Amino acid sequence: MQKKGYDDPLTRLSGKCRQYKLRVTPQRIAIYRELLKSKLHPSAEMIYRGIRKLFPNISFDTVNRTLLTFAEIGLVDVVEGYGSPRRYDPNVKPHHHMCCIRCSTIIDFNSDDYDNLDLPLEIPEGFVVLGRRVVLKGICRKCS
Ligand SMILES: [Zn+2]
Ligand SMILES: [Zn+2]
Repeated sequence: MQKKGYDDPLTRLSGKCRQYKLRVTPQRIAIYRELLKSKLHPSAEMIYRGIRKLFPNISFDTVNRTLLTFAEIGLVDVVEGYGSPRRYDPNVKPHHHMCCIRCSTIIDFNSDDYDNLDLPLEIPEGFVVLGRRVVLKGICRKCS
């Protein structure tokens, strides 16, 4: 029987940390949990605000560096195209984004059609496409 262990977030975290010889510290676990908890593709600042309740002495810099490390080892994605502050995405499976241009909310959605979009002819030969992400820009219900 196959265990679906890799889908368990904390198994993912400890697996990645082992692979890159990082220690699984309580802070790292808490930061990762906070990231998973939020469906809003949070910035470091948002994570920091949540994490301070658990670790009152943690610095913003630690949170920021931990998130950058997570991104480096492929545990989380950085959402492209939002400039600063960086937004993080714990969902590293293929998916697409809806984003509100007023409140900057980013919402995940799945679409088999978008996953399999035909590539435009302008894609230069030799460019290996590893993934597709469609971003729908608009105004969310709250803002409209
Ligand atoms: Zn909005
Ligand atoms: Zn996402």
